[in-house]
Amino acid sequence: MTTRLDDKLNLIYQDVLHRNPGETEFHQAVLEVLETLGPVVGKYPEFADKKIIQRICEPERQIIFRVPWQDDNGEIHINRAFRVEFNSALGPYKGGMRFHPSVYLGIVKFLGFEQIFKNALTGLPIGGGKGGSDFNPKGRSDDEIMRFCQSLMTELYRHIGENTDVPAGDIGVGSREIGYLFGQYKRITNRYESGVLTGKGLGWGGSRARTEATGYGVVFFTEEVLKTRNDSLDGKTLVVSGSGNVATYAIEKAHEKGAKVIACSDSGGIIIHERGIDLELLKQIKQKERRRISAYTEYHKDARYVENGDIWSIPCDIAMPCATQNELNGKDAKTLIENGCIAVIEGANMPSTPEAIQLLQEANLIYAPGKAANAGGVATSGLEMQQNAIRDSWSFDYTERRLEEIMVDIHRNCYETAAEFGCEHNYMLGANIAGFLRVADAMTALGVI
Ligand code: NDP
Repeated sequence: MTTRLDDKLNLIYQDVLHRNPGETEFHQAVLEVLETLGPVVGKYPEFADKKIIQRICEPERQIIFRVPWQDDNGEIHINRAFRVEFNSALGPYKGGMRFHPSVYLGIVKFLGFEQIFKNALTGLPIGGGKGGSDFNPKGRSDDEIMRFCQSLMTELYRHIGENTDVPAGDIGVGSREIGYLFGQYKRITNRYESGVLTGKGLGWGGSRARTEATGYGVVFFTEEVLKTRNDSLDGKTLVVSGSGNVATYAIEKAHEKGAKVIACSDSGGIIIHERGIDLELLKQIKQKERRRISAYTEYHKDARYVENGDIWSIPCDIAMPCATQNELNGKDAKTLIENGCIAVIEGANMPSTPEAIQLLQEANLIYAPGKAANAGGVATSGLEMQQNAIRDSWSFDYTERRLEEIMVDIHRNCYETAAEFGCEHNYMLGANIAGFLRVADAMTALGVI
């Protein structure tokens, strides 16, 4: 891969490649940040002297363990799980757990690395970490999910804690899984330590608006972006990939703001509904019935399902990738540009490939990276930790207001930082530099540890 790095940063990147062979997603996430840090290294030479960037690229701790469990027929399965505690300069490690067959160390490290900067942008006292397992929850019974979660926590519990490392959900991990994980933690430790996990159910320590937070936050961020151009979401046509947690609530808030989402997807195919996605039906199919998105056309004859369809070929004003990493490539970016799309706002983590980002930026589309636009989820997890610490429970409206304030602040910080470094409207540069500076300042203050 050709890079846009100066000599000093290129040396650091080459070292990352050498020390982490085969972890391509991690390499990609590191390169994406290093490519924007040139101006910072020039302005603050002390960070180079203290090897801050090299230290940020090396996780503080990486835990890999076996998760044996029995299925409903008594057969034994062995999965592998990970927790990468990346950086705790700003607070306890914080970041979700992902259950998906594609999970390996390189994915967890890319997500953990991104999380450092994202968490810094929220302004809250949380460090960066991430975890997951190559367990595939699809088609598994409730009991199997429970046994897997219990086995995983039987090892994980010794590494986490409300002041140490606070996991949450991600792909394949929602409130059901957090419930089983929390139950086993409580049982082993004999402690009702609510702050050890976030994304909990409302009846047992969860925060109102946490379920909705990531998707809502993406839309709040989009509104702020559009305001800088004297524009709004009202009347805009959106395409949102995925139909999980982030996608669902991005669609909900976008509709509230007067936009129309005309397509969404799952890993099997896409639904196109020109009248606008019927969100209540989507929730029923995906959340209650846990079925595939293809079932949507059973209820709406004017909607179309395209198996393995290409969601980015559907003309729209704004594209919101909310499914998974590298789901929007160079070809997709070209199509979006040709179709007159004005913005790509990322709900997922690293959904756009480097080639796609370059093309979008060259064509002057608005490009907002996930580490800024989707930070509302972890920010509201931070609010959940605050409520747990003071044994309080805030109203939905109050929590949503706090979320919106945080998203407005993140946007302002990214926007102003980009302008300060002479790259107005470059949200990627603004997010990376603003996040980096907060972490780098704290690491400097804490000494060489
Ligand atoms: P969910 O598991 O709730 O939903 C994921 C959605 O993406 C599903 O529709 C899934 O389809 C689809 N998907 C997953 N993998 C693939 C794939 N390889 N190809 C095509 N589609 C795929 O996860 P979330 O909504 O929580 O997470 C989505 C993204 O947002 C991830 O990148 C995650 O890291 C990021 N994120 C999530 C946050 C949160 O609070 N949940 C916070 C910040 C970021 P199917 O059901 O068919 O697998």
